[in-house]
This record gives sequence, structure tokens and C-alpha cells, in this order.
Amino acid sequence: MDKKIALITGGVGGIGTGICKTLVQNGHFVVANYVVPGSETRWQDEMAAAGFNGDCTAIAFGDVTDFEATGAMVRAIEATHGPISILVNCAGITRDATLRKMSPEAWHAVIATNLTSVFNTSKHVIEGMVERGWGRIINISSVNGVKGQFGQTNYSAAKAGVLGFTKSLAYEVIRKGVTVNAVSPGYIDTDMTRAIRDDIREEIVGGIPAGRMGTPEDIANAIAFLASDASSYITGANISVNGGLHMYA
Ligand code: NDP
Repeated sequence: MDKKIALITGGVGGIGTGICKTLVQNGHFVVANYVVPGSETRWQDEMAAAGFNGDCTAIAFGDVTDFEATGAMVRAIEATHGPISILVNCAGITRDATLRKMSPEAWHAVIATNLTSVFNTSKHVIEGMVERGWGRIINISSVNGVKGQFGQTNYSAAKAGVLGFTKSLAYEVIRKGVTVNAVSPGYIDTDMTRAIRDDIREEIVGGIPAGRMGTPEDIANAIAFLASDASSYITGANISVNGGLHMYA
């Protein structure tokens, strides 16, 4: 397969690391973005343990809520490694509370990290993709962006916004060889879901038809397909990867 440069925001996180591994296995060069200094060390150890070195991986610091900082990161990656052809927007946070208890800070932080970040990164890679006539933008939404969730007005709004963004940008660039799609995970076994209280986790798993939480690889496999040439006629789509938790047309 043709080796492409892939930027994965939040690439050092639970799902992000799985995406990085799978894209490397599919022949790509991955650049994992991170924001908290130190969080890249575990990623580097895990990638090295999987046999992936600097020939196929790199790390890039940058706060994707900051438009200028994101631009500087993209320019630095492209100057060092080459043009970014695959962008996976995976950075995300939760700040759960019922609306009655939610602070404006919790609202703005979640919108900035999960939704504005997608604008910030896409803006800085889209011209290059269009000029080269090939690109893949894959946005991680969530089952809770589709169906809503108690205590997640901020997160559900941001993830639903990601789906709207995906469809609108898809219209704008498909004739230039660039596809824009979303993947909506259900509950995936990462630090984000390990933070859920044990009894609630058990209740959640009990409600998943597959009888288990998903793995980062379950998500990564869908991403790898959307990043490939085989998916060139798929754009503006949202692929659910949720073990049957929520089925919709
Ligand atoms: P993690 O917390 O493991 O990973 C999230 C990543 O986002 C971290 O690597 C973090 O970087 C990064 N990040 C947060 N803020 C910023 C920022 N301002 N700039 C750059 N990077 C940032 O969570 P998951 O792997 O579980 O989640 C990945 C994505 O999947 C998220 O978008 C999440 O909403 C979505 N999702 C997850 C589900 C799940 O069940 N786990 C279900 C549905 C959707 P750092 O480590 O440096 O802080």
C-alpha cells in the first residue's frame, strides 16, 4: 500500500494508540499528537514494544483547541515528514454534569476540545489535500452524539456537531478526491470509560448486545478502511462501532 502521512490528534490516548498501531500496520507513517507533557512517554514505550520505531512513527505536541498552535504543529509536521494525507480527529474530553450543575467552563472546554478542534485541524490540512487531489478526514464522534446521554449536554452537543461538520465538509471536497467521514464508538475500554464507577460500568456492559465493551482495535479497523483507497466512494458517512448498543438507519 502507498505510504501516507497520518496525523492522529489525541493519538497517545487509548483509542488513538490503537488507531496509530493499525495505521502503521497498514503501511502508513503516523504522527501522534498529544497535549499533556509526559503523556507521550507511555505511547512511545507501547509503540516500541509493538515493534514500531521512528521509521513509521513520530510525536507532535500541540493543543488542538488553539487555532494558531494547531497551524504551527501542522506546518512543523509537514516540513519534517511531508504532507498530511490522513487526518484522524480523535482528541476528546468529557466533563459530565447535568445541565443544572454544569459550569460554563465545563461547557466551553468540551466544545473546544471535541468540536472546535476539528475545525482547527481541518482548516490547516484541507488546502493541501485538495491541491494534491487526495485526502481522508476521519472524525471520532460518539454514540452519545447520536442518541444523547444523561449528564452529557456538552459532550453530546459537541459530538453531534462533529457529525454536522463531517457532512458539510464532505459536500465541499468530494470532487477534489477528499473524503470526510465519522466513526461513532459505543463504549470502548479506555481510561475514559475506566473512570466510570464499577457498578455503572457493569450496568452499561449488560446493555450492550455484544456483551462486552469495544476495544481500540475495533475502532481502528473502521478507521483503517476509511483511510484507504477502497473507501473512495464513501463520504459524509457515520460508521457506528458500538456492539449493537444503538442501531439506527
Ligand atoms: P483518552 O482520554 O484516552 O484520549 C483522549 C486524547 O485526547 C488524549 O490523548 C489527550 O491527550 C487528547 N487531548 C485532550 N485534549 C486535547 C487537546 N486540547 N489537544 C490535543 N489533544 C488533546 O480517551 P479515548 O481514547 O477513550 O477517546 C478518544 C476519542 O474517542 C475521544 O474523542 C472520545 O470522545 C471518543 N470516544 C470515546 C469513547 C470511549 O468509550 N472511550 C466512546 C465514544 C467516543 P493527552 O493524553 O496528551 O492529554
